[in-house]
Amino acid sequence: MDENRTELEDLGEFGLIEKLTKNTEKYHASTIAGVGDDAAIISDGDNYKVVSTDMLVEGVHFDLSYAPLMHLGYKAVVVNLSDIYAMNADATQITVSIAVSNRFSVEALEELYKGIHKACELYQVDLVGGDTTSSPAGLIISVTAIGEVTKEDVVMRSGAKENELLVVSGNLGAAYMGLQVLEREKQVFIDNPDIQPDLVGVDYILERQLKPEARKDIIHYLKELGVRPTSMIDISDGLASEAIHLCQASDLGCTIYDEKIPIDTETHSIARDFELDPSMCALNGGEDYELLFSIKQEDFDRIKGNEHLAVIGHFTDKGSGMNIVDRGGQLVPLVAQGWNHF
Ligand code: ADP
Ligand code: MG
Repeated sequence: MDENRTELEDLGEFGLIEKLTKNTEKYHASTIAGVGDDAAIISDGDNYKVVSTDMLVEGVHFDLSYAPLMHLGYKAVVVNLSDIYAMNADATQITVSIAVSNRFSVEALEELYKGIHKACELYQVDLVGGDTTSSPAGLIISVTAIGEVTKEDVVMRSGAKENELLVVSGNLGAAYMGLQVLEREKQVFIDNPDIQPDLVGVDYILERQLKPEARKDIIHYLKELGVRPTSMIDISDGLASEAIHLCQASDLGCTIYDEKIPIDTETHSIARDFELDPSMCALNGGEDYELLFSIKQEDFDRIKGNEHLAVIGHFTDKGSGMNIVDRGGQLVPLVAQGWNHF
């Protein structure tokens, strides 16, 4: 037994990143912001470039027994673009790196790239490079996305102020419920391959899991409305985890109202079928790729009643803590379960 050995699970993902990167030196004045936001910010004369990387690992982030390769390629791009939009930036280029085993045929990898090209077309980004290498068994896809934003428009996690409103786009928890259905049907198939999968009435949540979209539309929409978010993050790990990130980066607390969290009716009813609390799915499920952001109180009138945007709470001083008001009116501390791959 090595007494100096620390297990990864003792630190968790964020503790590990913090430990590995806390002594990072900065050698260039053009590095405006590094580790700690959805994307790094690099000065490029009058404008900023933003850069973000995400990796998808077979068996951890996806299961090819139900995720079609084309969808996987699409999703690998989209989850990276989501981080670029979370900086209020426009995504412009991506690089794609893959590690593949001889388990995959050329045709299979062409399917993967069909999805990658499809996402590039829809989001108007250019595939400009990458790397290809072998892997002993599984498939690994790493995408780096680059975007552009003016200095005035860039939005970081750290910009929220006390009393500002916490707003979320779209609805939450659907991708997580889609995953539950896919896992259930996979198990049914393993137990009895003759049984046809029961996928009636779950189209929406399956699409949210297998073919998510990044909210480029919301970034443009907010510009049209004349609303500039003061802080922003994309929801990859669940609302609770992301709200905590905004609070910590902005040195604030927050109050979120459970009853205000937007949840689609299909998500709601399938969660009930699984005897899960729909709010818990929204708070801790993940992979929604919606945007969570703060706006000034005076901007409320511009987004009031908007079908794409829901005000779910507000920021408080740090001392008040991070809380959620449940449906019974009780204040309960917000805790991040999120994904912990370790
Ligand atoms: P997101 O969920 O938005 O993709 P992550 O939680 O993956 O962000 O990462 C949080 C921050 O830590 C980001 O700024 C990311 O660039 C940085 N980061 C993650 N892993 C590493 C690493 N191994 N080395 C350096 N920075 C990292
Ligand atoms: Mg992010």
